[in-house]
Amino acid sequence: MKQIQLHDRVFRMSIPEQEIDRAIQAVADKINADYKDSDSLPLFLSVLNGSFMFAAGLVKRIAFPCEISFVKLASYHGERSSGKATELIGISDALVGRDIIVVEDIVDTGNTYESLMATLMRHNPRSVKIAAMLLKPEVYQKTLPVDYVAMQIANDFIVGYGLDYNGLGRNLPDIYTMVRQK
Ligand code: 5GP
Ligand code: MG
Repeated sequence: MKQIQLHDRVFRMSIPEQEIDRAIQAVADKINADYKDSDSLPLFLSVLNGSFMFAAGLVKRIAFPCEISFVKLASYHGERSSGKATELIGISDALVGRDIIVVEDIVDTGNTYESLMATLMRHNPRSVKIAAMLLKPEVYQKTLPVDYVAMQIANDFIVGYGLDYNGLGRNLPDIYTMVRQK
């Protein structure tokens, strides 16, 4: 399989674009079925930066009228999965009474998702569901359901299709897994 280097790390292609497309289509089919009779105007809330490519792939397959908005989470700590509270930047739309579908790149420990959910709930939406491109089921320990998952992966560090390693790799159309260094 194809290998690449980003900064000091080597990554091996693990999920080709066609497989990602099929998985996103399957999620879109489920969401289309679940929301087809909805009388509201559901709002897709894409969490930047990592979910931009998944969000694009997903919403172009959505068959009902909907809105798309982008938010950013500012963590009080620099590290990922720090478990600390996050602040939501960029909510311009009123969320009161809305059906929201959060669009996330990856749910790992679920800390980000949990704090995002708590923040969103303070805006009194009608419903909040999440569509995650990737889930690491071995790591996820929260009780909150991850409603729509395109692909499940092992506890590895991946890049591509929006996800980065220190800024690089977001543009890759396939997903790559970091090769463990011995
Ligand atoms: P959680 O809070 O669920 O532990 O982590 C979620 C966030 O951590 C994701 O939105 C993503 O930014 C980052 N993250 C978790 N796992 C990975 C990974 O394998 N690769 C990359 N590039 N980011 C990850
Ligand atoms: Mg994210």
